[in-house]
Amino acid sequence: EPSLIPVARHGIRREDLTPAARRVCATLQEAGHKAYVVGGAVRDLIAGIPPKDYDVATNATPEEVRALFRRSRIIGRRFKIVHVMVGNETIEVSTFRALHDEDTVTDEHGRVLHDNVYGSQAEDAARRDFTVNALYYDPADETVIDYHDGVADLKDKTLRMIGDPVQRYREDPVRMLRAVRLAAKLGLSIEAATRKPIGEISELLENVPSARLFDEMLKLLTSGYAVVCLKRLREEGLHKGLLPLLDVILNQPMGEKFVWLSLENTDQRVRDGKPISAGFLFATLLWHEVLANWNTRREAGEHSTPALMAAMNEVLEQQAEKLAITRRISADITEIWALQPRFERRSGKMPYRLLEQPRFRAGYDFLRLRAESGEIPLELPEWWDSFAHSQPDAREAMLQPER
Ligand code: ATP
Ligand code: MG
Repeated sequence: EPSLIPVARHGIRREDLTPAARRVCATLQEAGHKAYVVGGAVRDLIAGIPPKDYDVATNATPEEVRALFRRSRIIGRRFKIVHVMVGNETIEVSTFRALHDEDTVTDEHGRVLHDNVYGSQAEDAARRDFTVNALYYDPADETVIDYHDGVADLKDKTLRMIGDPVQRYREDPVRMLRAVRLAAKLGLSIEAATRKPIGEISELLENVPSARLFDEMLKLLTSGYAVVCLKRLREEGLHKGLLPLLDVILNQPMGEKFVWLSLENTDQRVRDGKPISAGFLFATLLWHEVLANWNTRREAGEHSTPALMAAMNEVLEQQAEKLAITRRISADITEIWALQPRFERRSGKMPYRLLEQPRFRAGYDFLRLRAESGEIPLELPEWWDSFAHSQPDAREAMLQPER
């Protein structure tokens, strides 16, 4: 039996939701269906954090949902969900689902491959990962329906897996990364039984498709809590030989300062509500790998520019084995790296051409970070800063003599 938690204990008023979330629940309910805000949004509202997005859970089928909203579409291959657009918001509406043992298809490690079976609300709650993620908020009466004591766990600052943690991690190893990310974001401690398996069965992450790992790593790195998350991952032993990217981030003596500076910078931007670029972020995380590879090639007598190109490709390919960095992002990464040597040419026409580059700003920010970490002298980004802000004749005077 679930607990019905009144507003006095959880504090969420219907006005705290976005208009779109309220609209979607109301329309479904007026048509005779159940509809609740569920998951991360309820959790974040109780914790006093503005939700990133809203999910709604309902007993209506995707087709029934689709029929109620003109601006909606059914998406999803693994399971059907409906995206409902209201104003400039998109609400994800999913039908209550169950995890039936007998119908569930898993791989040889127990990872769940399909779970598209509709179920009751109680079953829907039980297939969610953590107790704090299995809360249902009804805007009509402002109660929270709580099947697994998630509200109490949230108040106690505890992250607890629903069910047997080992089995739930086997079903979906990405939950290990989610545990670390959510604990960091919400300032929760991971309850002992939920925490213990993480270091022990972390090799299960190897069987997760690389596109999903990339999504999850991106979420982690752009959560605004990347520094805390990564320190926790290191403590949990989740980085050992699993994700080359994590190895790189957590074990690089050379680039350590640079990487942490970049992550702190990203965290700050996210918390200030500023946009961040995934390409820029991954470019910083992998830069010292590129540098090491580039240096080896130059020492072996390769020409500088082709050596850099080869180093960039090799480093990106290594990552691609485990993380499916999207094509667009890897193009951004490559552009930022390839600009770096061009900042060293301070004579003739080259500086003017670099200023005209659409990616000048990203390249310059990257250069500055390199300088702040001590890799190159600060004088170089400072020169570019004054060059970019000077009048034409002052610029001429700044140029170095051609060699
Ligand atoms: P955030 O949006 O802050 O990243 P979230 O918990 O909302 O966190 P989503 O990926 O948006 O994360 O998922 C929404 C909800 O779906 C979760 O709150 C949880 O109930 C459920 N969920 C997501 N991923 C999993 C998973 N791997 N296993 C079980 N349930 C999951
Ligand atoms: Mg969410």
